[in-house]
Amino acid sequence: MAKIDLNGELQQIYGMNVRRAQVLEKELGVRTPMDLLQHYPYKYLDRSRFVSVGELDNELAHVQLKGKFSAPKLRQNGKRQWLVADFTDETGSVEVVWFKALDWIQRMIRTDVEYVLFGKPGRFGSKLNFTHPDTTLLEDYQARGASLEAVYNTSETMKKAGLHSKAVARLIENVLREMPGLPETLGAELLERMRLPGRAEAVRELHLPSTGQALGQATFRLKFEELFYIQLSLLRQMGARKARSRGLVFEKVGQKFNTFYNDFLPFPLTGAQKRVLKEIRRDLGSGRHCNRLLQGDVGSGKTLVALMLMLLALDNGFQACLMAPTEILATQHRDSLRGLLGEMPVRVELLTGSTKAKERARMLEDLASGQLDIVVGTHALLEDRVVFQNLGLVVVDEQHRFGVAQRARMWAKNEETPPHVVVMTATPIPRTLAMTLYGDLEISVIDELPPGRKPIATAHLYDSQRLRVFKLMREEIGKGRQVYVVYPLINESEHEDFQSYKDLNDGYESITRAFPPPQYAVSVVHGQMKPEEKEKAMRLFAEGKTQIMVATTVIEVGVNVPNASVMVIESADRFGLSQLHQLRGRVGRGAERSFCVLMTDHKLSADARKRLGVMCETNDGFRIAEEDLKLRGPGDIEGTQQSGLPMSLKIADLSRDGQILEEARRQAGALLEADPKLEHPDNQVYVRQIERQRAGRQRWEAIS
Ligand code: ADP
Ligand code: MG
Repeated sequence: MAKIDLNGELQQIYGMNVRRAQVLEKELGVRTPMDLLQHYPYKYLDRSRFVSVGELDNELAHVQLKGKFSAPKLRQNGKRQWLVADFTDETGSVEVVWFKALDWIQRMIRTDVEYVLFGKPGRFGSKLNFTHPDTTLLEDYQARGASLEAVYNTSETMKKAGLHSKAVARLIENVLREMPGLPETLGAELLERMRLPGRAEAVRELHLPSTGQALGQATFRLKFEELFYIQLSLLRQMGARKARSRGLVFEKVGQKFNTFYNDFLPFPLTGAQKRVLKEIRRDLGSGRHCNRLLQGDVGSGKTLVALMLMLLALDNGFQACLMAPTEILATQHRDSLRGLLGEMPVRVELLTGSTKAKERARMLEDLASGQLDIVVGTHALLEDRVVFQNLGLVVVDEQHRFGVAQRARMWAKNEETPPHVVVMTATPIPRTLAMTLYGDLEISVIDELPPGRKPIATAHLYDSQRLRVFKLMREEIGKGRQVYVVYPLINESEHEDFQSYKDLNDGYESITRAFPPPQYAVSVVHGQMKPEEKEKAMRLFAEGKTQIMVATTVIEVGVNVPNASVMVIESADRFGLSQLHQLRGRVGRGAERSFCVLMTDHKLSADARKRLGVMCETNDGFRIAEEDLKLRGPGDIEGTQQSGLPMSLKIADLSRDGQILEEARRQAGALLEADPKLEHPDNQVYVRQIERQRAGRQRWEAIS
């Protein structure tokens, strides 16, 4: 028989038909036999162990029995018909029931041979039974040999087309039987050194495992390969960029940096701040372009690091800018930079959409002539008319609000050599995810908070315990502190937006009732207000003129009100973990003890309960991010959608396979180190696979 063409039509596969091919394409994006081979099982059933009828009870999950059927008998109740047979081994009998395909069952079941029965026992009245169990002739079971059975994800649509897990397994078996062999995708040297099975063997093992150990090795190999190619591609991009873009050289640590460090620094730097400064300074002096991600939990002191880097730029004759996602944040940054600089002769200005025309004109002029050292701003900085004399460093705060394209626009602001870029983010990203997402950025981490911070006491309360919350609020306000009350903005759709608006309004009313004027003043901020109104309400709160801020998540991003000591989060179960952590980070910025209260209904999903539990247990942003990744999977983590990377991995799992990922990155790095352009004949295997993947992506893009 002719071998099948793995890149040809699905129709070549024995057992395929037009309908099934269409469904596979629509549901799984499977278009070729090769695609089908990469529809990997999501779990395996252990078919090596048997129980006897005597051992059965209905607490058991799936079990496997060996025995003989009695002839199925038809039963009837009104219009309903079903079949019943006894299944007997040496310890006893159990009933088996079928409700569907009765004719076929009656013809198929033989009473003269032994069967293997597999299913979950259920209880009917006082008796145990099996409903539609999986049945295999003992002879066939023995012939197959494999004791681990692959189980495939299927959808309702697939099942309607007869494509349940078993049918998918059979189609894949047919491909495996008739395929000409699979091209190897990793070099012989690497395979040997890491003792990895070959590709064809690994794929076969994955679908038809021979032993648990072989399956483990096959899984490792395929995960490794998947992550290896992602890292290879990222490292090549990074290498190409480095080779292409010479970087501005900040060679000296000059007067401004030193004066600030010696005379103006209000507190000693934390160890982590020092380390990160050293890392980035090394980049800035290296003559290569610096493109770095600076991660640090809320309150870890990123602004100070940013300022010191900007001073370094000034010392070397360059200008610097700091971009923030909102006006409020930009304003706060301008103020805190000015505060930190004190009397130092460094000019810092703010440029946003609402900067007055006259002021703007003057500022633009000073930027172009080099009179203005540091400009802080919003997206307004991206506009073409913003021209620098000599821009050396761009710091971007709260990365996920800016896309990659916007970063690129800032690059173009220095004509000869792009400015160095440092992206600061307070959304801690687990290392594994960061390596994949921002694999083209170097990463620095501030993993230490300034001393004296008290962990934020976090509690989960039910709506019925609201009086306790009001009591806490009253006490804290009595001590001169301020309080946030936050409502979820469920999503952009109008109906839901209205719902959250209503929730917020109801809450606002009950709060003003409990905290009436003139003793108390309450600010409110929500998505349906005009930007100016929002700014005004936030400012009142920031200036301490109101004690309570009732808001939807607009305050999520970085506003700094150190005097606030209580964060009440309503319907906390509707927030993701990283969002909850961000919100909590709005308090606890001073040295006083702070509180976070997570309010919910009594009805909670298991996942929500877990999220709230994690919040109550820890303040550590990185641990929370890891938990988040485990609970949600990487596809949903903020920022992943815009990365343009294939986040839907076929087999690797970023929340579990961190170590494989690191190994993959190491090996990809070693490969490129030895042969940066992949020119050696032995390495053509990698070039071919990169080309295959590129062709695959293009095929996808052409269709979607
Ligand atoms: P974030 O990383 O969230 O942007 P900030 O830069 O706003 O954090 O810093 C939070 C607070 O900690 C600020 O009030 C800042 O002045 C203070 N801070 C920063 N570094 C230190 C330090 N080394 N020691 C003490 N306080 C610090
Ligand atoms: Mg900040």
